[in-house]
Amino acid sequence: MADVVALERLRTTALGCTRCPLAEGRTQVVFGVGNPEADLLFVGEGPGHEEDLAGEPFVGRSGKLLDRLMWEELGLTRAECYIANVVKCRPPNNRDPAPVEIESCRPYLEEQIALIDPSVIVTLGNFATKLLLDSGRGIRALRGQVFEREGRHFVPTYHPAYVLRGGGEPMAEMRADLVRAKRMLADRA
Ligand code: URA
Repeated sequence: MADVVALERLRTTALGCTRCPLAEGRTQVVFGVGNPEADLLFVGEGPGHEEDLAGEPFVGRSGKLLDRLMWEELGLTRAECYIANVVKCRPPNNRDPAPVEIESCRPYLEEQIALIDPSVIVTLGNFATKLLLDSGRGIRALRGQVFEREGRHFVPTYHPAYVLRGGGEPMAEMRADLVRAKRMLADRA
């Protein structure tokens, strides 16, 4: 069962975090958004420019696509699930998060997962997938499957930014992955 009070406490701690150098360049910490009692959690990579300004994950073009696919394939809005990232502060110039930044931020994500207690986690792209599935294999090798870890179902899929660049085929594959997540949620209901 979710622990909403502890999640708010964690958010407060994260908002003042200076564990890694990303703290120096951020406008806002992007902790996460949605229903803290959601059964479905999406995990992205890290905030971009727009997310850094808004303090909310996936508000730019990638986010619009995520919202659309979430609605069309799962019938859910972002308020009904929860969305978080591997790193909570924006890497400068939209570069990839560095290993030390990922490791510094990892306890926040692990605690979010423990406190929200979702039954299904959709990992968006390589960074979230490698971290949460503890795998050296990339998203291309892992998507299309469902993994079970400690009683939760993990559904790896593409990052929406990749789908925006890649067009029809990755879009169809991401849709199929979201249908897998929907099936997992239904099985738990
Ligand atoms: N890309 C991500 O991985 N996360 C965001 O919040 C926005 C873009």
